[in-house]
Amino acid sequence: MKIKKVSTVVTRVPLGNKKFYSSQAYFSERTSFLVRIETNSGLVGWGEGGQWGPSEPVASVVGSVFSPILIGAESNQPGVIWEKLYSYCRDFGSKGTYIEAISAVDIALWDLMGQALGVPIYTLMGGAFRSKLEPYATGFYYRDTDDFASQKALGSIADEAKSYVDDGFRFLKIKIGLASIADDIKRVEAVRTAVGEKITLMSDSNHAYNVSNALLIGRELQSLGVRFFEEPVVPEDHDGYRILRTNLDMAIAGGECEYTRFGFRELIGKGCVDIVQPDICAAGGISEYIKILALALAHNIMVLPHVWGSGISVAASLHALAATPWQPYTFLPIPLQNEPVVEFDRNYNPLRDELIDPIIKRIGNRVSVPDGPGLGVQVNEEKLAKYATEINHYD
Ligand code: MG
Repeated sequence: MKIKKVSTVVTRVPLGNKKFYSSQAYFSERTSFLVRIETNSGLVGWGEGGQWGPSEPVASVVGSVFSPILIGAESNQPGVIWEKLYSYCRDFGSKGTYIEAISAVDIALWDLMGQALGVPIYTLMGGAFRSKLEPYATGFYYRDTDDFASQKALGSIADEAKSYVDDGFRFLKIKIGLASIADDIKRVEAVRTAVGEKITLMSDSNHAYNVSNALLIGRELQSLGVRFFEEPVVPEDHDGYRILRTNLDMAIAGGECEYTRFGFRELIGKGCVDIVQPDICAAGGISEYIKILALALAHNIMVLPHVWGSGISVAASLHALAATPWQPYTFLPIPLQNEPVVEFDRNYNPLRDELIDPIIKRIGNRVSVPDGPGLGVQVNEEKLAKYATEINHYD
């Protein structure tokens, strides 16, 4: 089975009045970059590359740089193709855009290999430890840039928290870092008051702090029972990560801005995190996830992939999580303690909720892993035509 045609697809959905902010960026639209790979046998595989950054540079790498290497290659060898692509771009693209492009190609090749062999990706990865996962709600983004702790803002964040719990979520992740530490603490307190002690809270600053500020807010967060503190400092600050891991009682999480086994060797090997969060669509796809997972298991730390993109990204992440062992094993694994949970972004995103068939199902506090061949999901062509803003073909 040889690769006959590679297509790059940029999808885009304006958010209108559903726009939001993290500590780093203003989101006026949701975008995803998708790769479609067609073989001479007629099979079609899909992959996704990148998270919230611009899609066009990733599309350009796949189209201009990688497609000449891919066309005519045997498709049932994602590991071999991964090494070829990485070896080609190592000198100028060992992080960021190039690895996001490799991720997209790699996921599409695993999708194809699964379809060719008639088995889900998780089977090719060694088998499924579970068929369902507990989701955690990622939400509580900022809707505006002021009045973070007004009565209205705190009332709205409390309502948001209650809506997730009413919907079946038992784990909630709160964005912090855009507001002052004092205002963000009030926001987390509002959530805790709204949902009570039984709901597990996590917090994510998207690397908004230096070490002293991260310590300051981290001590407040842990007194509110926040279970993990995600991306407290910039991804390059490994010493800062270690200081926080040593000085705070809560788990330190990070890794969504790290790439490949080489980047994760530093983050994991230097003892920076308790929970490592590779993004399957950014860190190097399924092939590289297997290697990052091995590094993490060897250091006895938990792997919880960062999940942000379209339905293709969610499906790929579910396969990866299905094949991720308990960390460590107990007779009765407990979600987030030693049983993986899956990040479930709750912001408006039709690329996640409409683009694939079948839609990823969440029933209460359970999400099912797709069990069809490959990714177990297909891109809905009608929806793709609605949301694609740029498609290029290479053959
Ligand atoms: Mg994050």
